[in-house]
Amino acid sequence: MHLSRFNPLRFAHLPTPLEPLPRLTQALAAAADSSGRGRGGPDLWIKRDDCTGLAGGGNKTRKLEYLLGDALANDATTLVTQGAVQSNHVRQTAAAAARFGLACEIILEERTGSNALDYTLSGNVLLDELMGAKIRRVPGGTDMNAQLALVAAEVAARGETPYVIPGGGSNIIGALGYVECALEMVTQANAIGLEIDRIVTATGSAGTHAGLVAGLAVMGADIPVLGIGVRAPKEAQEASVYKLAVETAALLGHQDRVTREMVVADCDYVGAGYGLVDEAVIEALKLAARTDAILLDPVYTGKAMKGLIALSQKGAFDGETVVFLHTGGAQGLFGYQSVLDGHLS
Ligand SMILES: *Cc1c(COP(=O)(O)O)cnc(C)c1O
Repeated sequence: MHLSRFNPLRFAHLPTPLEPLPRLTQALAAAADSSGRGRGGPDLWIKRDDCTGLAGGGNKTRKLEYLLGDALANDATTLVTQGAVQSNHVRQTAAAAARFGLACEIILEERTGSNALDYTLSGNVLLDELMGAKIRRVPGGTDMNAQLALVAAEVAARGETPYVIPGGGSNIIGALGYVECALEMVTQANAIGLEIDRIVTATGSAGTHAGLVAGLAVMGADIPVLGIGVRAPKEAQEASVYKLAVETAALLGHQDRVTREMVVADCDYVGAGYGLVDEAVIEALKLAARTDAILLDPVYTGKAMKGLIALSQKGAFDGETVVFLHTGGAQGLFGYQSVLDGHLS
């Protein structure tokens, strides 16, 4: 695939470990047992992209290797991006900017309506400020792409050179990071003789899901990816993942390899909305933490695990080897302390 021709910068801690989750596997099997299905459930493994190393890490770090390569090739002096208040993408972008001596302009959308002090000031926001990003806040529902253009124009008017990174770093350049992850995961599985039946990941701004699908399709690996939605309804989510996967495969010279059927999102676990936590999410956070000491986040990986647990209880993964892609986000936990308070016993 010659990914190095896109000149990514190298700062992520790669490869991330691919590890078994023995105690969580056991817990899901026990749940199947008590539901009368026998010892079902998946043999569960985890791909530790929460350990990519950039100021807490997470999935945006792989995307940023390619985006920063492009930014520096374009002589950028200032990164401009946007996200929700507790955005992990924004935190990793602020970190990448610091690391390469760039300025960083952030626009935070008050998407959840929360004005709790921990949500608005702690968790990822605290880290953004610590790393020197300049933050502006706008109300929920703001046209964030228009805001990006506005700030980029301001930066240019000051004589700096802006580089705009879309929300979640999800464009064809960022998605290359997850093409590389697909390659890395298949290589690791081959090395240990692991046959992966399915990959499960949270899917939001689509770059992770699309990059994985494009990477697997281009290398001819027949492993289905299930995206668990965190915001959009199924049809919209699958459409945006499919579009980006085709565009990313096209950049690699193989746009015909991605078919519409390869893109599957289950958006039944969003709950009340993006960034809003329910009891099943808290149960998922607790189960992962108390079995294999895996720290999930309330917005993405906690919802994906909520979906994985529910689907597993319905028998959807019986007999399968499933890899859960841990996309990070635990730094956001501290922004949700008041939401979690009283639910952790
Ligand atoms: C951004 C994010 C995701 C979703 O990835 P996309 O590429 O935006 O779909 C999943 N998990 C975490 C922790 C994230 O920060």
